[in-house]
Amino acid sequence: MTQERAARRDQAVRAAVEQGLVGAREPVVCLLDVAGIRACAERLTAAFAAVTRGPVLHAFAVKATPLVPVLRLLAAEGLGCEVASPGELALARAAGVGPDRTVLDSPAKTAAELREALALGIAVNADNPQELERIDGLVRSAPTRSPIGFRVNPQIGGGSIGAMSTATGTSKFGVALRDPGAREWVVRAYAERPWLTRIHAHTGSQGMPLELMARGVREVYELAEEINAAVGHRRIDTVDIGGGLPVDFGSDEGDPGFDAYARLLRDAVPGLFDGRYGLVTEFGRSLLAKQGTVLARVEYAKSAGERPIAVTHAGVQIATRTVFAPGSWPLRILPYDASGRPRDAGPLVVQDVAGPACFAGDLVAQARELPLLAQGDLVALPDTGAYFFTSHFSYNTLPRPAVHGYAADEETRDMRFVTLRDAQTLAELVAESGGAHARALDGFGRGAARPHTP
Ligand SMILES: *Cc1c(COP(=O)(O)O)cnc(C)c1O
Repeated sequence: MTQERAARRDQAVRAAVEQGLVGAREPVVCLLDVAGIRACAERLTAAFAAVTRGPVLHAFAVKATPLVPVLRLLAAEGLGCEVASPGELALARAAGVGPDRTVLDSPAKTAAELREALALGIAVNADNPQELERIDGLVRSAPTRSPIGFRVNPQIGGGSIGAMSTATGTSKFGVALRDPGAREWVVRAYAERPWLTRIHAHTGSQGMPLELMARGVREVYELAEEINAAVGHRRIDTVDIGGGLPVDFGSDEGDPGFDAYARLLRDAVPGLFDGRYGLVTEFGRSLLAKQGTVLARVEYAKSAGERPIAVTHAGVQIATRTVFAPGSWPLRILPYDASGRPRDAGPLVVQDVAGPACFAGDLVAQARELPLLAQGDLVALPDTGAYFFTSHFSYNTLPRPAVHGYAADEETRDMRFVTLRDAQTLAELVAESGGAHARALDGFGRGAARPHTP
C-alpha cells in the first residue's frame, strides 16, 4: 500500500507538470491522493469494526484538512466531522455532513455557538464547569436532541511535543481530573444531569506514545464506570476517545497504525469494547497527512558562505510549524527535475531549501543532503495533507495555493486532477486585507467627524 502511494505521488508530480498545474506561472501547488484518502478511511473503519461490538462514529477532525470536498468524500466513506469553531461547523454543513454525525469540541464556545449546536442536534462536549452551566440554561429553555458530553483531562503527562500535549498537569483543555476535588465534582455533575450521557478525552496530537494514549482512554473508561455505578444505571453510553494517532514523517514505510491502535485499546480497556459503550473517534492527521504533497518550483539556486540555497515557493505560508519549530516538525524534501522526473541520481550536497518569505528563518530544510537543486527544478514536500497547506499562514500576503485531488483513470491509468480549492487571487488578497475600507483612514481623527464612506 505504501509503495503504491509513493508511485502514485511520482506519477502525479509528472502529470502535474505535463498538465500545467505547476510551472513558471503557477510556482506552487498542493496535491491530494484521492485513492489514498479512501483507502485510509476504509482501514480506520475496518480496524475498529474488528475490535468492538458497539456503534462507532469516526468524526474526522476538520481542523486537520478543512476542505469541503474532502469532508464530503470522507462522509461518503461513512465518517463524520469533529468541529471546533463556527467556521468548521459551516464547512461540515456545506459538505452535507448531518448533525447526527457531527461533534462540537472547543475550549471557547460562545453562548450563541452552544445555542445553535443544541438547536441543530449536533453532539457537544463541554470543556469546563462554566460552559456546563451555560448548557444547563439552554437545556432548560429548549429541548435538544444533542448528545452532550464532558471533556476530562486524565493528566497522564505529555508526549515529545509540548505544544501538542493536551493531557499535561496544566493543559487548558477539559477538567483536570487529578486536581483536588475534581473527580468528585465530575461524578456529581453527571449525577445531577440526566442529559449528560457522554464523556470525552483527547490526550494529544503527534508525539504521543500509543501506550500513553491507551492509558488516557483507560482512565476515562474507569471514570465512566464509576459514574454509571454512582447513578445506578448506564448513564454514560458513549465514550469519545479523541484522535491523536501520530504520523511517520520520515518515510513511506508503515501504515497509519489504526489496526495496532485499535487492538492495543481493546487489550488495555476490554470493557470499552464489549458492546456496552458506543465509541466516537476524532482522528485527523493520521487520516490525511500522508495523502498530501506540496509541489514547488525552485525559482533560484544560489549560495552563501559556501552553503547552496534553493529558493522555492514553499515556505512558512505552507509549512508554518516546520519553519518555526523545525526540530518537532521535520519534512522530507523530494527533488524532481523541471519535467517532473525524480532526481535520484548524482552526488548528495548539503544545502538549504528556502521558502519565498522575507525573513531569514523561512527554511523548510536546513543543511539537508540532496542532489544539488537547480533553477527550474521542483521540490515535493510529502506528508503535508493535514495541518500544512490547509492551515495557511498569510505572511507577506502570500496567497493560498490551489489544491487538486488526483486519481488514476481506471481504464487508461492516466493521472487525472480535480480542483478542490482555487488559488487565492490578488483581488481576494486585497479584499481580506481591508480593501473594502481603503479610504477609512483618509482624514480620520482630524477635524469634525464625517459620515463614513467606504
Ligand atoms: C486536534 C484534535 C483532534 C485531532 O487530532 P489529530 O492528531 O489530528 O488526530 C481530535 N480531537 C480534538 C479535541 C482535537 O483538538
